[in-house]
Amino acid sequence: MSVVDLKRTKIAKILQANELDQEIIVKGWVRTKRGNKSVNFIALNDGSTIHNLQIVADPEVISDDILKKINTGASISVKGKVVASQGQGQRVEIIAQTIEILGTADPEKFPLQPKKHTLEFLREIAHLRARTSTFSAVFRIRHAMSFAVHQFFHQKGFFNIHAPIITGSDAEGAGEMFRVTVLDPINPPKNDKGEVDYKKDFFGKETNLTVSGQLEAELAALALSEVYTFGPTFRAENSNTSRHLAEFWMIEPEMAFYALEDNMDLAEELLQYLVNYALTNCGDDLEFLNQRGLEEDKNKKQEERNELSLVERLRFVTENKFIRINYTEAIEILKNSAYNKKKKFNYPIEAWGTDLQSEHERYLVEKHFKKPVILTDYPKEIKAFYMRQNEDGKTVRAMDILFPGIGEIVGGSQREERHDKLVQRMAEMKIDEEELWWYLETRKYGTVPHSGFGLGFERLMLFVTGMGNIRDVIPFPRTPDNAAF
Ligand code: ATP
Ligand code: MN
Repeated sequence: MSVVDLKRTKIAKILQANELDQEIIVKGWVRTKRGNKSVNFIALNDGSTIHNLQIVADPEVISDDILKKINTGASISVKGKVVASQGQGQRVEIIAQTIEILGTADPEKFPLQPKKHTLEFLREIAHLRARTSTFSAVFRIRHAMSFAVHQFFHQKGFFNIHAPIITGSDAEGAGEMFRVTVLDPINPPKNDKGEVDYKKDFFGKETNLTVSGQLEAELAALALSEVYTFGPTFRAENSNTSRHLAEFWMIEPEMAFYALEDNMDLAEELLQYLVNYALTNCGDDLEFLNQRGLEEDKNKKQEERNELSLVERLRFVTENKFIRINYTEAIEILKNSAYNKKKKFNYPIEAWGTDLQSEHERYLVEKHFKKPVILTDYPKEIKAFYMRQNEDGKTVRAMDILFPGIGEIVGGSQREERHDKLVQRMAEMKIDEEELWWYLETRKYGTVPHSGFGLGFERLMLFVTGMGNIRDVIPFPRTPDNAAF
């Protein structure tokens, strides 16, 4: 098979095929140019792989006028021949026959100089940061993970459901919402009571951006048996952490006839599948990020360093069964831990019933069990209204999956399928029955036990790439005070 396309061959293909003496056209962005009077070496990248392709440009073949425009950041098209490389670091290189400048980049002004930039600086130039090795690796892995999610569910016979992004219910219960309105903000229509009259708004009622596709996925599961959503969700929570975004993507499977154990089995299988997929299919990018992680660790204080490298952490998840314990057992472990007694937690664990902070979750995973942990049966007060109530009257069939370096990566539960129990819990939590009449009807007509969970896609990406901040695993992050690009 020839690697030659009529038009252009991508660098990944050229390096993979490793075929000599082919004439090819390659296009991309210049990473660096070095050389002397007799020869120039151009490192070209087109985003198809982490690796650059070396272009050898002889000043006797390529005019000086062209050569001086080949600066870092410029885009070029090269026609040339694939040859075995004389130098170290690459097997093949291209001897350029002609080079066309597609777009110049002023070396004085181009912000991405060939040196190390901080991630904070790169966030400010998010329109260009995908041209760095780090971010192109992250975004290629993001694609691979998205593809693998669909592949996993498709192979299992699940159906992908597109849940609405604009929702008319504010009872989803997962956090603060962003309002969607076309009303004039200066002079909105008012009702008799002097309140904004949303009856006059676009949808004739108050609407928001969804915080979760779960409720709609449940409706679909109670017809198609096994479904999942994979869409954007929005939370106007002002938590400016390295693990929260205002706009993030979530994978939400929902399965009829699944008890909590089946739900946990599926979540564990999914996570292991995805991590394994990355290890098998994103080798070059992971190797780069692994190296990057090791370098970063060198600059950290001893106690902040990772005990395992990125690739080791990934293997660790694919090779170990997750620990499963209930909330009550977890609280005992945390309460009696030396950490708690020495007051090392910002939020000390005093009594049963408190919500766990990510420091507690990470303690269980990283210090105590040293394995991913699934925590079940949380107090009903700290969980949503739709979770199935246990016989004890105090806890619900919730399950959160906790990962090293991250804390919660999955939140799920067996759903309350009993109409009377659900109505009673909604009343206790002051959730309007009328508003969720459609949700309640599924419990009236042919209700069945069912379960589901939400996997935060960017939390998964944090784990798989080893990046430390969730702003660096999504192309254009939305966080408090930031919606640039
Ligand atoms: P946390 O306690 O970390 O805020 P949560 O309990 O609000 O999470 P859920 O409502 O259970 O989370 O959402 C399901 C999953 O979505 C979480 O396990 C997490 O992976 C992800 N997630 C939740 N909030 C965010 C956010 N603001 N940004 C990115 N991912 C999120
Ligand atoms: Mn939250």
